[in-house]
Amino acid sequence: MVTRKRVLLDVDGVLRDWGRSARKIAFEFANVPKEYVQSDPTNYWWMEDLPPQFVSPCINALFEPGFSTLVLHRMAEPYLEAQKLYNFLKYNFNVTICSSQPNPFLETLTEQWLYKNIDNFDSNIVFTNEKHEVEGDIIVDDSPGMIGKILEHTKMNIYCVARPWNSEVVSENRVYRNTSEEIIKDMMEKYVPEKGM
Ligand SMILES: [Mg+2]
Repeated sequence: MVTRKRVLLDVDGVLRDWGRSARKIAFEFANVPKEYVQSDPTNYWWMEDLPPQFVSPCINALFEPGFSTLVLHRMAEPYLEAQKLYNFLKYNFNVTICSSQPNPFLETLTEQWLYKNIDNFDSNIVFTNEKHEVEGDIIVDDSPGMIGKILEHTKMNIYCVARPWNSEVVSENRVYRNTSEEIIKDMMEKYVPEKGM
C-alpha cells in the first residue's frame, strides 16, 4: 500500500477569510476610520500602517480574548473553494492543519471554527509559528513570509493559494502559486495515482 503524503494545511487566507471580517471588527470595535479598513486589499497586514493611536485598540479587538474576537470568529466565512480543497486533500493525503495563532484563546476559536464551517472536518491540528519544524511533504499556505521560511528550511513542496497579498510569490522550483482549483489539478497530476492502479 502506498503511504499517503503528509499535507500541512493553513487556515487563515487559505480556508478562512479572516481579513475581511477583521477589517469590519476594526471599524466597529476599535473605531478605526473607514479609509484605513477599506484600503488596499493587497495589504493583509494593514494594521501596520495604522496611525499609532489605533494600533493597540485594534490589536485588542482582533487578538485579545473577548467579545470582539468571538464576534470575529463567528463572522469569518470560509472562502468559496475551501470545502472543495479540504475534501480533495482529506481523501488523498494525510492532512494536518497547521496554523499560527497569537494565543490559546484564538487557537480554541480557530479549532471551533474549523468544526463548524468545514463539513466532515476531522484532521489533526497543530498550532505553531514554526511550521518548518512540523513533519510534512507538502504545505498549502498563503503567507509570503512563511513560504520563504519553508523554502529555506525544509524540502517540502509548497502550494501558495493566490491572494492579492502574495502576488510577489512566484512559481519556481518547489513553489507553485495558483488558484485552489489549479492547485487541486496540479496535485492530482503529481500525487494522485489513477484509479485501479
Ligand atoms: Mg495564512
